[in-house]
Amino acid sequence: MNKLFFIVAMVLISFGCKTNETSPEKEKPKKINDFAIIIHGGAGTILKKNMSDEKEAAYIAKLEEAIKTGHTILKNGGTSTEAVKKTIQVMEESPLFNAGKGAVFTHEETNELDASFMDGETLNAGAVAGVTNVKSPIELAIKIMTDSDHVMLSGKGASIFAKEKGLDMVDPSYFYTERRFQSLQRIKNRNKTELDSNDKNAAFYDADIKNSKFGTVGCVALDKDGNIAAGTSTGGMTNKRWGRIGDAPIIGSGTYANNLTCGVSSTGWGEYFIRNQVAYDISAQMEYQQKTLKEATSDVIQNKLTKLGGTGGVVALDKNGNMSFEFNTAGMYRASMNDKSELIVKIYKE
Ligand code: ASP
Repeated sequence: MNKLFFIVAMVLISFGCKTNETSPEKEKPKKINDFAIIIHGGAGTILKKNMSDEKEAAYIAKLEEAIKTGHTILKNGGTSTEAVKKTIQVMEESPLFNAGKGAVFTHEETNELDASFMDGETLNAGAVAGVTNVKSPIELAIKIMTDSDHVMLSGKGASIFAKEKGLDMVDPSYFYTERRFQSLQRIKNRNKTELDSNDKNAAFYDADIKNSKFGTVGCVALDKDGNIAAGTSTGGMTNKRWGRIGDAPIIGSGTYANNLTCGVSSTGWGEYFIRNQVAYDISAQMEYQQKTLKEATSDVIQNKLTKLGGTGGVVALDKNGNMSFEFNTAGMYRASMNDKSELIVKIYKE
């Protein structure tokens, strides 16, 4: 009898231990990367059939150069802020992307640049809108965060601040590229008939603008200290007017970072990203609903943004080093690299 009692007790104890070991609330998500970096170079109707081999190779090479720049910084123990800044600067200096040199043209045939940056450790942020003569808008966004009492500066005032802080200033013609100038002319010519028929809205939100390859750039990085930083830089939308500002410099829409959850950089039709608070919503879903990064990015882009009619995508990276590319367009220029130096560079859906 005693023996039987002993056996039953042992079975019950071991069963109890097992259930405790596997209880879901005790399972902690594992850190899969000590450091990692993810970038985008814009989302849109990017189709293989419209791309020459040379152009495709040029995009892939530049994305690779950019991500390796940030990855080397992180690998050597540098900060996520430095990695995001230097990575974005490689893309700002390339005429391939709609940021810095290569920015799209406004209706008035100028280039007006927007950028933002957020530090996930302090939740501090900096942003700039509508500058025309600052070489690196992402550097200015970071300077606004570190050297001013403000989060967002715009236009002339932002340029004065940049000059005072000794940032590289350029003549506005530095941003000129023939390709972007011709895109503006094509859109203007097509819109003229619509404007004449008084349909101003249709003209601005022309389906061709909606589907053009916007080319905004963005980066999210996680450093070895567990700090997440995110940044975004853009020329906005071709043919924009009236001082239009998109989501890229709006913290919570174009950029967000929080060490407790994730970092996000957006690209796409900015008005919809502002209305959906895309970047913050992804972080909030992780914080309040305990969603994984993949679940949150997928819900925000594939459900909420799509339902409203918005197009575009995000790159996102969480505190455990998980990464996500999520977009509802035909393609998104994108790349990622983890702590094992595994590199992914892609353009089209698959
Ligand atoms: N989101 C940017 C804007 O609306 C454009 C883009 O990402 O393509 O200004």
